[in-house]
Amino acid sequence: QGRLQDRVAVVTGAGSGIGLATVRRFAAEGARVVCVDIDAEAGKRAADEVAGEFVAADVADEAAVRDLFDGVVARHGRVDVAFNNAGISPPDDDSILETGLDAWERVLRVNTTSVYLCCKHVIPHMRRQGKGSIINTASFVALMGAATSQIAYTASKGGVLAMTRELGVQFAREGIRVNALCPGPIATPLLLELFAKDPERAARRLVHVPMGRFGQPEEIAAAVAFLASDDSSFMTAAQFVVDGGITGA
Ligand code: NAD
Repeated sequence: QGRLQDRVAVVTGAGSGIGLATVRRFAAEGARVVCVDIDAEAGKRAADEVAGEFVAADVADEAAVRDLFDGVVARHGRVDVAFNNAGISPPDDDSILETGLDAWERVLRVNTTSVYLCCKHVIPHMRRQGKGSIINTASFVALMGAATSQIAYTASKGGVLAMTRELGVQFAREGIRVNALCPGPIATPLLLELFAKDPERAARRLVHVPMGRFGQPEEIAAAVAFLASDDSSFMTAAQFVVDGGITGA
């Protein structure tokens, strides 16, 4: 029996990178996984691999997010875990001097507003159950001046951290745990595409990782499974850092 046996777990951004690795890990631990992605092909592939369910949704769209969680509960009877992970890091979000308002608003909408929407529409269900675990993906860049230049991205993840703390405290007595995950640089398409555009940036970043390497998506998935499971039952409103030592250095 896995730690997530028969739990119903929703993963957003399930088609790639950290989301995909977590889909596999959740399934290996016994969960019924609902894979959500705006990219239907990738999301469906992930769901098929674990005999899970695919739901196409843009997590920045309130009607889609409401339908997502209401639908999951209608079909599965409950929702135990929400891994709010979908996010973007577009190359046009760079120095504040070059980041246009459109790029800023798009990043905030997909990375931060989406977390607000997912929490808003999953919490009523978890409240009824008297139990639930929400994990919001932030980043190490929200904990330090990481000199990544990505101003909207960094701000968007700071918002996720603050929102997570607030919700964790607010719902602590109702059995709903809300934690934030702060990955360091992880070798996923999101990061690799950014570094392909600017290889020097990759080298600069690597210098600051005490372990001297980028993380693998599976190393984040292991942490998410812990936060999703009852093994982390006394954790809420926390920032869980998995970064190869960057923020400790
Ligand atoms: P990724 O690009 O490999 O995967 C992201 C997935 O989210 C994709 O499948 C994409 O289609 C989906 N997605 C994007 N916008 C969406 C939307 N509006 N609605 C639904 N799905 C959408 O990225 P990743 O590296 O696995 O990143 C996952 C999360 O981890 C992001 O929130 C990212 O900011 C965060 N993160 C990544 C790193 C890293 O180094 N890779 C570090 C810290 C935090």
